[in-house]
Amino acid sequence: MPSAATAEFRFYAELNDFLPPGRRHAGFDYSVAGTRSVKDAIESIGVPHTEVDLILVDGRSVGFERVLRGGERVAVYPVFELLDIAPLEHLRAQPLREPRFVLDAHLGKLARHLRMAGFDCLYRNDYRDSELITASVAEHRIILTRDKGLLKQRLVTHGYFVRETGSEAQLCEVVRALQLQPRLRPFTRCRECNTELQDVPKAEVLERLPEKVRGVYARFQLCSGCQRIYWEGSHYARLRRLLDRAAPAAANSGGR
Ligand SMILES: [Zn+2]
Repeated sequence: MPSAATAEFRFYAELNDFLPPGRRHAGFDYSVAGTRSVKDAIESIGVPHTEVDLILVDGRSVGFERVLRGGERVAVYPVFELLDIAPLEHLRAQPLREPRFVLDAHLGKLARHLRMAGFDCLYRNDYRDSELITASVAEHRIILTRDKGLLKQRLVTHGYFVRETGSEAQLCEVVRALQLQPRLRPFTRCRECNTELQDVPKAEVLERLPEKVRGVYARFQLCSGCQRIYWEGSHYARLRRLLDRAAPAAANSGGR
């Protein structure tokens, strides 16, 4: 039984990634003296608020601003957990799965993979935190980052902490965690500049094609942003296999 100055917390599913081993998948007491709200307490435990979609205090859903006085039982659920919690109060009015992104400066390869999968991704290798947050808030973009501190900033409402370090594994992780599989539209967006691609007749781009490509491929796409031409070469096949790997992971994620 928690004492007056502590509450009992339990975190569910992938929120446990942020906890030390002794606190994972189990209830633990945590001092709430000096915390201004349940959001404060959750972040001081180490979990960014952007990862949280539902908080139950003594079985009732509450907002981030709820003050804890001690003695409560607090259950914290992640944004993308597949639970039937529809009747309860979620912490955000806007849909969180609007699949548009802004990526931190270290996730350039992931940005290219996601664009190739069809997702609108802002990325620059010199983004500052304030620019990422502005883009997220102004355009309702989900921040993808490996920086937990960024996700704890007050203005951030839509964010996901990327656990994996390799870019291909990151793509699979993000597709699974954010349930993007139904929204995959492979090869519809320029991986370099994020512009949507348009089909273009071969005759229009023929003189810009490498000699060995001219006779082999029939379908071409043009990026009106950077004028790149895309065709279904060996690069296409490799990326196709990567997306095939990412998508089944998404299809199976409900079985956890
Ligand atoms: Zn382009």
